[in-house]
Amino acid sequence: MPCIAAQFFGPEEKTLPTHTLEAIRPAPAPDSDIDPIAGNRVELQLLTTLKCNLKCTYCSLGVGEVLGSQTELKYDIDQLAAFVEKHLAGKEIYVTFYGGEPTLNQKMMQQVMRRFPEFRYQLQTNGTLLDDLPDWMLARFSNILVSIDGGEQTTDDYRGRGIWRKVIRNLGHIHERVGGTITARVTWGNPDTSFEELDELATAIEAVDYLYWQFVADEMYGGDSLEKRKAVLVRLIDKFFSRTDTLYPLVPLMGIVRNKVLPTRGRELYAGLTQCRVSTHLVNVMPNGEIFPCPDMMYAAEMKMGEIQSNWLKKSPLQPTTSMPCEGCEAFSWCRCNCMKNLYLGYVKNDERYRRNVVEPICELVKFIGREVDRHDPHGWFSRLALSVRKQITDAEIYEYVEIMP
Ligand code: SF4
Ligand code: SF4
Repeated sequence: MPCIAAQFFGPEEKTLPTHTLEAIRPAPAPDSDIDPIAGNRVELQLLTTLKCNLKCTYCSLGVGEVLGSQTELKYDIDQLAAFVEKHLAGKEIYVTFYGGEPTLNQKMMQQVMRRFPEFRYQLQTNGTLLDDLPDWMLARFSNILVSIDGGEQTTDDYRGRGIWRKVIRNLGHIHERVGGTITARVTWGNPDTSFEELDELATAIEAVDYLYWQFVADEMYGGDSLEKRKAVLVRLIDKFFSRTDTLYPLVPLMGIVRNKVLPTRGRELYAGLTQCRVSTHLVNVMPNGEIFPCPDMMYAAEMKMGEIQSNWLKKSPLQPTTSMPCEGCEAFSWCRCNCMKNLYLGYVKNDERYRRNVVEPICELVKFIGREVDRHDPHGWFSRLALSVRKQITDAEIYEYVEIMP
């Protein structure tokens, strides 16, 4: 379609002064390719090291031998500042310190927090070294995401003996000093994980404000394990809808209900794309300065989207494609492509085994959650909520820090 100015003016009008043409022409349409970051917020996820002091059996950084591969930072704080100034100026920036175990490079975290005091900060940690952090740092965290696998037995089976107690003890020590919230982040790998252990994390551990879980991206969905997980989900969802005066703080259910009741909330911060932000505004910086959208795909050269030292950034290459099944899916309006890594491996790379054993079972569980939520009439429930609870469903800051979808 010709531009509007060309419709208004024939060739003879070409001589009109430029300022007149500019006044008549509509402003150029926003072009998301000009700005690699969609929208006004950006999450700068800084991997302080790829070392870790634990050896969790399912660690996603084990893929492509990423874990432990970089222990030194290859860029300095001035290079980071130059990158921020060139690509992120004017945006609301929040930093997530990530790893490996990020607290193993506390010096870098301190440097960044002192240099950019106006940013928001989040820490993703295994929780074992939290008691080493000084009070001023704890006070500056808007959220601390603590990886834990459920109850004591489940966690210790994956992470090593005594880890659950150590983490819970550390949380007890620090939680009064944390400025923001503490979120237990559960990778739901074990099909025998029970309702009771997730419920305990969400409600009985005083230091924990929210529980977020994600379904493990590994081949752990055989036999009756889907049915076992569904049975736990039914109970979690029943409990979620059982009260209107207080919130059962399970982030995936909060986010799914929000997206169902107020669909624009699920789209506005993510340009309608995945809620984990990898397609829009997640800038994931490795210790060597290379930038990737998804922390689980830093081994894939085709995913590289920038570099700190040479100061370049392009739009995330991890975007929906027509080969992915989402648009025809019953869950699409609120799920919005859940995990782009899974979809990319399953439907672009055509890894059939991964698709069958990981992607499809997770999608089945997501769709199951949607149907269970609908059984509880989320619109009616939302309309009966105390306003303070309603505000948490609509506006909780935690949505910016986790993937929301499971
Ligand atoms: S459930 Fe699976 S297929 Fe459906 S929208 Fe979500 S990611 Fe896509
Ligand atoms: S949910 Fe997003 S960030 Fe997490 S693995 Fe999937 S694509 Fe990557």
